[in-house]
Amino acid sequence: MALSSERLFDSLGHFGRFQACVYFASVFQAMSCGIHYLASVFMAVTPNFVCGFPGNVSNILFHNSSASSIQDIWTLWTSTENYVVVQLENGEIWEINQCSRSKREVSLDLAYEYKGNKSVFSCSDGFLYDDTKWKSTVVTQWDLVCDREWLAKLIQPTFMLGVLIGAVIFGDIADRLGRQRVIWFTSAGQFVFGIAVAFTFDYYSFVTVRFLLAMVSSGYLVVAFVYVTEFVGIKARTWASMHVHAFFAMGIMIVALVGFLVRTWWVYQIFLSIATVPFVLCCWMLPETPFWLLSEERYEDAQKVINTMARWNKVNTPCKVSELCSVQQDDPVSGRMGENDMSSTKKHNILDLFCNWQIARRTITVWLIWFTGSLGYYVFSLSSVSLGGNEYLNLFLIGLQYINYFSKYGWKIFNRCGIWPYISLHSRTVPNNCKITCCWKWKHDVPCRKCGCSFLCISEKCLDFHATWQLKKKGCACPWTAGRLAGCAENHTLFPQLPVLSEKVRFFFLCLCILEMAAPKVAVVGAGVIGLSTALCIVEACPSCSVTVLSDQFSPNTTSDVAAGMLIPHTYPGTPIHVQKQWFKETFTYLFAISNSAEASEAGIHLVSGWQIFKSTPKEELPFWSDAVLDFRPMSEAELQKFPQYRFGQAFTTLKCDCPPYLLWLEKRLKAAGVQTYNRKVSDLWELHSEYDIVVNCTGIGAHQLVGDKKLFPVRGQVLKVYAPWVKNFIRDGDGLTYIYPGIQGVTLGGTREKESWSLSPNPGTTKDIFDRCCSLEPSLREAQDIKVKVGLRPSRQSVRLQREVLSQGGVKLPVVHNYGHGAGGFSVHRGTAKEAARLVGECIAALRGSSSGAKL
Ligand code: FAD
Repeated sequence: MALSSERLFDSLGHFGRFQACVYFASVFQAMSCGIHYLASVFMAVTPNFVCGFPGNVSNILFHNSSASSIQDIWTLWTSTENYVVVQLENGEIWEINQCSRSKREVSLDLAYEYKGNKSVFSCSDGFLYDDTKWKSTVVTQWDLVCDREWLAKLIQPTFMLGVLIGAVIFGDIADRLGRQRVIWFTSAGQFVFGIAVAFTFDYYSFVTVRFLLAMVSSGYLVVAFVYVTEFVGIKARTWASMHVHAFFAMGIMIVALVGFLVRTWWVYQIFLSIATVPFVLCCWMLPETPFWLLSEERYEDAQKVINTMARWNKVNTPCKVSELCSVQQDDPVSGRMGENDMSSTKKHNILDLFCNWQIARRTITVWLIWFTGSLGYYVFSLSSVSLGGNEYLNLFLIGLQYINYFSKYGWKIFNRCGIWPYISLHSRTVPNNCKITCCWKWKHDVPCRKCGCSFLCISEKCLDFHATWQLKKKGCACPWTAGRLAGCAENHTLFPQLPVLSEKVRFFFLCLCILEMAAPKVAVVGAGVIGLSTALCIVEACPSCSVTVLSDQFSPNTTSDVAAGMLIPHTYPGTPIHVQKQWFKETFTYLFAISNSAEASEAGIHLVSGWQIFKSTPKEELPFWSDAVLDFRPMSEAELQKFPQYRFGQAFTTLKCDCPPYLLWLEKRLKAAGVQTYNRKVSDLWELHSEYDIVVNCTGIGAHQLVGDKKLFPVRGQVLKVYAPWVKNFIRDGDGLTYIYPGIQGVTLGGTREKESWSLSPNPGTTKDIFDRCCSLEPSLREAQDIKVKVGLRPSRQSVRLQREVLSQGGVKLPVVHNYGHGAGGFSVHRGTAKEAARLVGECIAALRGSSSGAKL
């Protein structure tokens, strides 16, 4: 079965009332992920502190200032290197540092500077903390300072480890048990663990419960992401998926607000955890996604959800699950995005993301984009307390800025650049959650490379900014360059390995970005024999190109699947004969080589001999292609006796493609070359301009509507596919109307040519007529079995439209190569025309490079 996911939304609405409710409920809870991810900013802050005093204090001295209480000193405290001098009631004078204290041997007078002997002691009386800003944090609660400082530093890394593991585990569970259950469990888990954190009794229980909290938080985020995108149609999907992060950013703002109002860490934690209680109370009402239900073959449940969606969206006649699915016997490729191959049993894993160099390169690039993006993001967010100024305002503004970014630019950039979530509804290439867990989608990576470069620059700036600020604090004289930064790595307290790591990462990333930049992005629209072979010729001619095939139908639902696939050319009156002959020869040579290879049976290509017969002598006794096929000769008298009503005939051997296997073979070749395929209807070629450099139009009869080509018209053809394995030779009436073409899997009986008819419904009268005509040529066909009727619309024109065009709109240009209008001979010339189209794409690339270097100059 194959399911076109977008048809569901075309029928029910892409973002109707139902989707809006589900979406806003789900993203509301995404706030709590932002909250818990960033909660440690204020919860684990280390205020100013010193060693506890060894007795009652009568006097405190800090440089020139004296005070009776340490509280009065904190406002003067400027550096961690400082110390205070205290005089105890028993007369002893002590120097109190942060992590040690020393008793002056000679205690004659109370001076700040002292050159005499001192005895050093540890902080056995605990520590005194500055509580003017924070009444209590986990650092002050469990004295995570001095030799226990590393425990404080582990708080966020252990949380992030939980995030990583939670994403992997819950992503996988959601593919197995469903999104709904994971959403229920993780949202309840966030509430329970969130509250539990506030009641932990020591550091270890605190870290453990927060680790669990991190797992459910990231589990929720990952799965909610898939969940909302499986409910939202493609028209709103980019927007919807980006704004999940806007709600995450709102969570950050809530952290800032609650942190400002509540200064005791466990009360703060409770307030943060109850922020999303409303969702926990109503999340049980969220339904399972129809796509997951269909993938589990729970058709009735899926239909119920679809009916509910229809009711909420006020659609009177909800679509039927059966209408969304079409029979597909075999799909060895199963690599199409936007399609659900429910019968596919092939399991995929993360290694599929490295199946060839192109895919591996993109995988690594996207991972690095994530790495640098997240790095900059967390460096800024988590360091907001130390950035100077008002820490609450800092964090609030960071959250606000993210929202602003996502609302104003983010979704546009992500729409352009393909960093939008790696969602393809129920493609079992790699399960959705696995894809989300691993990376985001590199849908169309033209701008991905730009985005990658921007992230590179951003991360560079973040690192430089952050590190320089750190080093300035440390008084390090390092200049403002990342290269020299590495030399000061030791002084870099927050991320000691960061500068060194970033040097290597940046170099590697830069190389990838350069590679990506050199790769023009080509979209081939259409997945019939012309689209697939054109895409293949483009990657063969330009291996660095990034080619994507977009089509609303794939095999077995294209006109090309209906065709008999015989290599007997049709004549295009508007195209010079020598050009047609060249196309045919190239196609014949290409397929002949396959027919002589081990791939022949998988590709469905074989040689077939037979006769073309005429009732009267044809005008041209030798067709232009006679020397391109094998053993072309007039039929002998003895051979003609088999066809008493015919007076003249030609015998020859040609090639035949069994069409569906050949199309699948082409798809497989494309996949191996790193070409991505997406199930998508293109309404206007302009809609692709932001995502691709060049568009190749191979939409067959679809071009009539897509580009408004009035010279293109359908010639309806009805054929029968029958089981008659004893028929070995082809027979073709010279008028081309009646034919018997034996293939590997069956025999095609034809046919009809109905100009300007758009009907795809089989006509029973025509079926009988075809059968009778063929039986009159080959009476044994009366015994044929398993008769299936197929109809296709030949995309006909006076000449094939094989042409370059530059579309222009408001100064923006989009190079387009057209390759459609092959009429009754698409298979016979597909390779030749595909090669020519690839050459035209090459010209477009050269023109683009010329114009971009011109622009730079
Ligand atoms: P199609 O196979 O129709 O592919 C067009 C693709 O574009 C489809 O995937 C479609 O979904 C997609 N598309 C269209 N519009 C859009 C859009 N807006 N957005 C996204 N995707 C879009 N030729 C021979 O050489 N030998 C034969 O023996 C032979 N027998 C035939 C028998 C019959 C009955 C018929 C009907 C045709 C026969 N042909 C034969 C002709 C041959 O089938 C066609 O020339 C050929 O299939 C055209 O291929 P195509 O890729 O251009 O079109």
